[in-house]
Amino acid sequence: MATLANLSPKAAIIVLVEHAFDVAVIGGGVVGCAIASALVRESLQVVLLEATADVGAGTSKANTAIWHTGFDAKPGTHEARLVARGHQLLAERGDDFGWPLERTGALLVAWDADQLFRLDSISANARATGYARIEVKSQSQVYELEPNLGVGALGGLLVPDEGLLDPWSIVIALATDFVVNGGTLRRKAAVTGAVHEAGAHELHTPAGPVRAAWVINAAGLNSDVVDRLLGHEGFTITPRRGQLIVFDKLARSLVKHVILPVPTATTKGVLVAPTIYGNVLLGPTAEDLTDKAATETTATGLAGLFEKGRAIMPKLLMEEVTATYSGLRAASEHSDYCYEVFPDNYVRVGGIRSTGISSALAIAEQVVADLRERGVAMQTLATPATVAVPNLAESRMRPYQDAARIAADPAYGRILCLCERVSLGEVRDALMSPVPAGDIDGLRRRTRALAGRCQGFHCGALITEMTSAWSGHSHA
Ligand SMILES: Cc1cc2nc3c(=O)[nH]c(=O)nc-3n(C[C@H](O)[C@H](O)[C@H](O)COP(=O)(O)OP(=O)(O)OC[C@H]3O[C@@H](n4cnc5c(N)ncnc54)[C@H](O)[C@@H]3O)c2cc1C
Repeated sequence: MATLANLSPKAAIIVLVEHAFDVAVIGGGVVGCAIASALVRESLQVVLLEATADVGAGTSKANTAIWHTGFDAKPGTHEARLVARGHQLLAERGDDFGWPLERTGALLVAWDADQLFRLDSISANARATGYARIEVKSQSQVYELEPNLGVGALGGLLVPDEGLLDPWSIVIALATDFVVNGGTLRRKAAVTGAVHEAGAHELHTPAGPVRAAWVINAAGLNSDVVDRLLGHEGFTITPRRGQLIVFDKLARSLVKHVILPVPTATTKGVLVAPTIYGNVLLGPTAEDLTDKAATETTATGLAGLFEKGRAIMPKLLMEEVTATYSGLRAASEHSDYCYEVFPDNYVRVGGIRSTGISSALAIAEQVVADLRERGVAMQTLATPATVAVPNLAESRMRPYQDAARIAADPAYGRILCLCERVSLGEVRDALMSPVPAGDIDGLRRRTRALAGRCQGFHCGALITEMTSAWSGHSHA
């Protein structure tokens, strides 16, 4: 009988590979999770390989969380088309998946004569992308819409369909959908090497090799490195850091819309926006770096934001700061997403820069269409399993406010995180779900625990203890 000991090294590796998948998706950010969820709903055998301990731990967790329409994207690009379609799909699927959205509208404000002059071309650009609902606003109308703006606004544009999204829940919802519909999620499974032989890819991970007929590269900041591992060389990622300041919930009533500046060629600029969790954001910066792990905030970056914020909305600066953070955009030398399907059964989905939460569902739809066109046999699940994520939005009922729910299960009435009013029941659910929190940060993204005013000073120790105790009982 053949045993591993008497097989050649190559044959032994093949035996160790327990399964050949139809598709391997590399990267468990919003884009990879959306693609994996869409493919498993087409009855394909899919493995999702994520380098870290949890899904959504890369750029997808640290962004501005705006539900973009794509009005300011370059017409004719992948980005313009996919953001517009993704915006629509997020709304259509919100009820099934449970993620909240708020259509606050965005107000783009001109602060000098040159910016005022450019409003016409921004409107024309929006129409060229297919977005026609943009409205020109006079100086007085701008102040009627946002009475707390600083002095000096000259006019603006209202984009009624821009809004707020919950980037944390969208990723968790898509990863959960993937798993409950039969997908295989492997965390701590960084792809470190790849071979393409005899019509199949073999990917090397610390958890063992993985074979798949197709590979989708959705590795975010590392998508250029993974591209090279797969024998391609099409782009280089330059991380563009965006630092942000989160103001306390008491500031929420100051701001009604997403307040945008007139964009430049390199950045959408510094905005002031409410968050779906009830805070107000100021940021982001735009700094081109070389280090893909440089997610720290800096004194200079924050000082620059305070200076801009003081001009946009002086009253905001009188409010307390809850937290600061930064995220890295996967910018490349190309002015569009790096999306391409190659004859070696490889789909490159790299360089998804500043708009990927909004476009993710449309990117996934595109991948499904492209694989189908290339002859991959699919059958849409007639009755996919659905699991809605718990609500984290301030504008909808939270468990601590739901008397009937607390009566049925008192754990939802026992508050652990006082700042964000997160109950024991929610923490328990996050640790026992089909995609349980991989670490404390993952628990924060599933519940909002530790994300409030005290940043975990009050409940951090207790929640850390619970996470280690409960993780032994959760699903794999
Ligand atoms: C400051 C800022 C503001 C933004 N604002 C918005 C906004 O308002 N609205 C919006 O829609 N978008 C916004 N974005 C963009 C959005 O956050 C990104 O486009 C999106 O999160 C990209 O998702 P992703 O899945 O491609 O990447 P990621 O979320 O980074 O996921 C990639 C994953 O791949 C994994 N990985 C890497 N290498 C490997 C490997 N070798 N093997 C296995 N796994 C690997 C990583 O660990 C990571 O989890 C913003 C981004 C930033 C930085």
